[in-house]
Amino acid sequence: MTAKILDGKKIAAEIRASVKGETLLLKERGIVPGLAVVLVGDNPASKVYVGQKEKGCLEAGFASFLHRLPGGTSQKDLLDLIGKLNADPLVHGILVQLPLPDQIDEEKVIAAIKPEKDVDGFSPVNMGRLVAGMSAIEPCTPKGIMRLLEASRIELAGKEAVVIGRSNIVGKPVALMLLARSATVTVCHSRTRDLAEHTKRADILVAAVGRPRFVTADMVKDGVVVIDVGINRLEEGLVGDVDFEGVSEKASWITPVPGGVGPMTIAMLLENTLEQAKLSGEGRS
Ligand code: NDP
Repeated sequence: MTAKILDGKKIAAEIRASVKGETLLLKERGIVPGLAVVLVGDNPASKVYVGQKEKGCLEAGFASFLHRLPGGTSQKDLLDLIGKLNADPLVHGILVQLPLPDQIDEEKVIAAIKPEKDVDGFSPVNMGRLVAGMSAIEPCTPKGIMRLLEASRIELAGKEAVVIGRSNIVGKPVALMLLARSATVTVCHSRTRDLAEHTKRADILVAAVGRPRFVTADMVKDGVVVIDVGINRLEEGLVGDVDFEGVSEKASWITPVPGGVGPMTIAMLLENTLEQAKLSGEGRS
């Protein structure tokens, strides 16, 4: 079997075009979706991600407010900035690029973002709502993964879904979303005994590990749908957490890296911001 490609680049482009169209309509009502991105320090990967997010905003017709703060910024100064952005009616979404420098408590900063401006979906309120099955601003990467599966009409109810990774950013929320769609979900992590025993059962396998080509062909069954979240920067270029060459021989569907989950993450960030801008226009600010 040679896998069909879950084409994140194409699906994300369609979503971005739709966001752009809706933004035009919103602008006719005097509302310009605004995203504030806060970058503290000069982590090279963070700079790349922030650049991509800014470009996405501008292409969609959003207002982009980039705040670059020096690496030595105090927690108080960062919290003051969040307070100002929370109060700014032109800002519908606030994204603080992670990781933050050691002197800053990430949890405190994320919790300080007003839940309705938390377009990354990481705040305790949005995470809690997701756990409870209530409407929430959903985190962008897991939301993008679910969209990829939906766009390709991949059935989830009753399927065995195995997620490798339990981070708050990817593993945990994607497991909850798969569960909400009635998959039977197993979450694996670094302490899992005999990982391959779990992955070989998977109808849907999500790899969010952060180790290049970690999932190999001998760890999956024929026909598996593989979502590779990993972004590993090697000298040869970007590589996922899945050995694409080997695994695509057995999988029915697979995401490439780059061009799979990555573009979907940005598209979901734009969609989340647009959604909050629309809600603010309906009287909820
Ligand atoms: P984290 O480092 O926070 O989490 C990695 C997870 O993998 C942890 O739960 C860890 O287990 C688990 N793990 C590590 N080693 C093993 C192992 N040998 N066997 C089983 N599980 C293991 O990473 P993130 O979730 O933030 O990101 C994962 C990957 O996805 C990274 O490559 C990141 O760059 C990428 N990413 C891509 C995005 C995109 O837009 N495409 C967005 C966000 C992330 P434990 O909890 O026990 O330590």
